Amino acid sequence: MPLFYPSRGLERRPRVCYTTENAAVRSERGDFGPRPGKTVRAEAAAAKKEEPLITFQYFKLGDAIERSLHELGISEPTTIQEEVIPEVLLGHNVLALAQTGSGKTLAYGAPILHKLSAQTPKERRIRALVIVPTRELALQVRENIRSYAEYLPLRCDCVFGGVDMEKQKRMLAKQTPDILVSTPGRLRDILTQPDAPRGLLGGCETVVLDEADKLFESTFLADTKDILSFVPAQRQTLMFSATMPKQMEATAHELMGAYVRKLAQPRNSTVETIDQTLYYVDRENKFPLLLHILSRGFDGTVLIFTATKYRSRMVAEKLCENGFAADVTTAGMSMNSRQKKFADLRSGKTRILVSTNLLARGVDAENVSLIVQYDIPDAAQEYIHRIGRTGRAGRSGTAVSLCEFWEKKYVRNIEKLMGKPIPVVTDHPYPMTCFEVPHDRHGRPVDPNVQESRNAARAFNAERAAKKRAEQEAQNMARTLEEEPRRKDAPEPEPQKPEPAAAPSASEQDLPPRRRRRRRRRRPRRTRGADAAPEELPEE
Ligand code: ADP
Ligand code: MG
Repeated sequence: MPLFYPSRGLERRPRVCYTTENAAVRSERGDFGPRPGKTVRAEAAAAKKEEPLITFQYFKLGDAIERSLHELGISEPTTIQEEVIPEVLLGHNVLALAQTGSGKTLAYGAPILHKLSAQTPKERRIRALVIVPTRELALQVRENIRSYAEYLPLRCDCVFGGVDMEKQKRMLAKQTPDILVSTPGRLRDILTQPDAPRGLLGGCETVVLDEADKLFESTFLADTKDILSFVPAQRQTLMFSATMPKQMEATAHELMGAYVRKLAQPRNSTVETIDQTLYYVDRENKFPLLLHILSRGFDGTVLIFTATKYRSRMVAEKLCENGFAADVTTAGMSMNSRQKKFADLRSGKTRILVSTNLLARGVDAENVSLIVQYDIPDAAQEYIHRIGRTGRAGRSGTAVSLCEFWEKKYVRNIEKLMGKPIPVVTDHPYPMTCFEVPHDRHGRPVDPNVQESRNAARAFNAERAAKKRAEQEAQNMARTLEEEPRRKDAPEPEPQKPEPAAAPSASEQDLPPRRRRRRRRRRPRRTRGADAAPEELPEE
């Protein structure tokens, strides 16, 4: 029978002993035999004939941290916390892989806070840096660390793009935090500014790459490497994620040298308490099927993931038209609005939120009970992260994925990565009838999601250009009508040949070239043919 944490309902694995390697690591090595030797604790427990219980007191993190964890309702460490906290305290480099919602933030947050609180630096400086891939995650990690440090005199703050950089630079210079959480792009920009606070990361002793495999992707890797070049080489590096292809460990090695690998569960596995299903459906029936799924009712919040920003907006709009109060958040929106939507999601105010992969990583909202993958992600690991927004900390959740025929290749990759198939629902009102891969006019297979958003962008731009043209014409017309009576009253000017357009007037020659050009442009255009009579030129 599974055991549960009394406070959070978090499933606890029955513990046998505390060792530096666990079943998942040993099974990877093909070592299925009995464990060689037993630790002191296991022996002691065996003597007492009861299962050993580890509480956070075991790690000796100090009263202040224990008190704040107690107030958060956190009493017993999860597997990854049990494995990683001692390693971090010992100062080792760690690559920690554990399922979504298994408490990785606390696994690095608590020991780092303990180490920092034990030191008394002469002046305040950044002593620990946490790099995360998204702004939302930066905000969340900052809040988590602040809640663990409630009773410690340590400061934690974050920087990310989309907001005033000067303000952030002032904050870093004047109220330097002990722990800085950041997205790679903004921190790199700050560090490479000529007026950047000097030696900002010179005193940094610990660097954490949360969602490390995402930070290894080409969009982030260069920035991450640049940031690490500002941190002293004598540092502790910690990397955390729920997914990490084996081949990516070469990058991990490159960035931190020797490290201890901790796997709390089999690599790339998903949480058992998430009920995953897959629906095969045609592209045009995806939305009716979504309505069908939502109309069955749901508790808590629904998170819907789409392939593009355009599709997120489209799905949210259509849901609102159909009577579901849906919101949307995507990259490209103002940071204020993104922050508000994220806060509404975490507080449970939003019932349905549509997004792209922006919210796939790290986001921890307690009330998310249903994940709908409106489009299958092209990167298999994103599937694991998307469904991991539910079923967190031992809770249960549901994840449904809607798959078109051409997306089947992505499903195959996902199943290969997870090492198990996703159960298919065949009994639904919109079964798949289209078995063709979309092609462009040259017969090449295309991604219809990309094409769709390109067409939408083209249509939007054309509409905007037409609107601008119409406005310009209306302005010209108004100006002509205004000038008409004035011209009639004015004496007939001497007919004269128009001056060549290229020769600027004497006064214009005094102006710098750019202003000259601007003045010339302001003149109304001369019409060709008979209308281009010199008397119609405006008076200078
Ligand atoms: P991960 O980074 O592994 O996806 P998080 O660090 O975001 O997971 O934690 C997920 C949730 O689990 C958070 O709400 C956190 O408060 C909670 N949590 C973390 N550790 C514990 C624990 N030891 N006992 C109970 N809940 C925990
Ligand atoms: Mg996390």
